[in-house]
Amino acid sequence: MMRNLLVLGAGTAGTMVANRMRRVLSHDTWTITVVDRDDSHLYQPGLLLLPFGRYQPRDLVRSRHSFIADGVVLLQGEVDRVDAPASTVHLEDGRALPYDFLVVATGTTPRPDQTSGMTGALWRESVFDFYTLEGAVALEKALARFDHGRLVVHVTDMPIKCPVAPLEFAFLTDAWLREKGVRDAVELVYVTPLSGAFTKPIASDRLGHMLDERKIAVEPDFLVESVDEEASALVSYDERRVPFDLLVTVPLNMGADFVARSGLGDELNHVRVDRNTLRSKDADNIFAIGDAADLPTSKAGSVAHFATETLVDNLLAAMRGQPLPSSFDGHANCFVESGDDKALLIDFNYDTEPLPGRYPLPMVGPLRLLEETRTNHLGKLAFRWIYWNVLLPARPLPLPSHMSMAGKAVPTTAK
Ligand SMILES: Cc1cc2nc3c(=O)[nH]c(=O)nc-3n(C[C@H](O)[C@H](O)[C@H](O)COP(=O)(O)OP(=O)(O)OC[C@H]3O[C@@H](n4cnc5c(N)ncnc54)[C@H](O)[C@@H]3O)c2cc1C
Repeated sequence: MMRNLLVLGAGTAGTMVANRMRRVLSHDTWTITVVDRDDSHLYQPGLLLLPFGRYQPRDLVRSRHSFIADGVVLLQGEVDRVDAPASTVHLEDGRALPYDFLVVATGTTPRPDQTSGMTGALWRESVFDFYTLEGAVALEKALARFDHGRLVVHVTDMPIKCPVAPLEFAFLTDAWLREKGVRDAVELVYVTPLSGAFTKPIASDRLGHMLDERKIAVEPDFLVESVDEEASALVSYDERRVPFDLLVTVPLNMGADFVARSGLGDELNHVRVDRNTLRSKDADNIFAIGDAADLPTSKAGSVAHFATETLVDNLLAAMRGQPLPSSFDGHANCFVESGDDKALLIDFNYDTEPLPGRYPLPMVGPLRLLEETRTNHLGKLAFRWIYWNVLLPARPLPLPSHMSMAGKAVPTTAK
């Protein structure tokens, strides 16, 4: 009898998992089905550069079909709910999809509707996001017109996907305004719910210095309560006000609503999983990967990639009724664009914060950790090609899935 592996979401993680599993599961015994609501795969890291005219929408969107391996069925439909006790997924159009094993890879989405006043009269007039294609396209037009005033880059709450992206946006805006010769006419402010630039101390210190060097003012510990549309200002719960002429916000990020309806999520609809095995805490035949999971590491494509190996090993073991052999360590790495065609790289996991050093080869690099270099910037640009041609088709990439300490320098204060 045929058995069913069902994957919800054909984004970065769902595509990689379906393609990897198709290579190792017998076609005679297993069907693999992936469900997504549409056929447009968006290269999300490109949304950072689109508002600065470096990419056009056509550079960032491709048909999902071109990345799904032969032998995997791609279904278009909106997931309505998972009936875990019955091992069945219901789509909004009434279709019911029974499964033996389920992988939830439906990501996380910006939800400006969750902040009072954010999507009101100022939305896409003077309040923009760049985490959606529509937002990034609208912001490009607004930035082109902007040559003086107060530009505020804002993070609503953590966790967000690619937590360094708003910092990168601030650095790139500074460089872009300098290039246009109007930097002195613009006050740049970075508003964050964190007490510093980033979540981990050494990187936060380094990135905080970079904000200072660029004269970008920081408003820390700012928990936004609302956007005051009349006054064009962010208002916090402790009644601080940050006025703006142009607001670039990262709205609250939330997992898919069906996760909550199915009783599988936390308060932000991210799937509750064991952080090492990636198995749902609520059902033994459900796993989650990528931004959809409540893992205490960055939400990033790199994390989805590094976690895929663990997920594949553990799914195969679970299918055989064996104990789960593989343990994910939270490995993440992210390029941080810093303007003027330079970038930093950070590499870390659940237990080790980003440290200075070289990556991936000790002594050699060629990439530098926590240091601004042109090679790092070229690495970020090359990532788009690697994404379409190596990551999504799940071709082997010669980088270990688990974080390595080789090449890292541990500052005495961090020991
Ligand atoms: C501006 C920006 C810059 C970034 N930069 C980087 C970077 O430099 N490096 C890096 O590693 N990562 C970066 N990321 C993060 C990276 O893009 C994500 O972490 C990654 O795409 C997560 O993959 P995923 O498969 O978990 O989610 P996604 O790729 O978002 O896929 C989720 C899929 O689920 C589908 N879906 C959701 N709900 C439903 C439903 N109810 N029914 C049917 N389908 C549904 C969606 O249509 C989508 O296709 C960046 C993100 C942004 C926004």
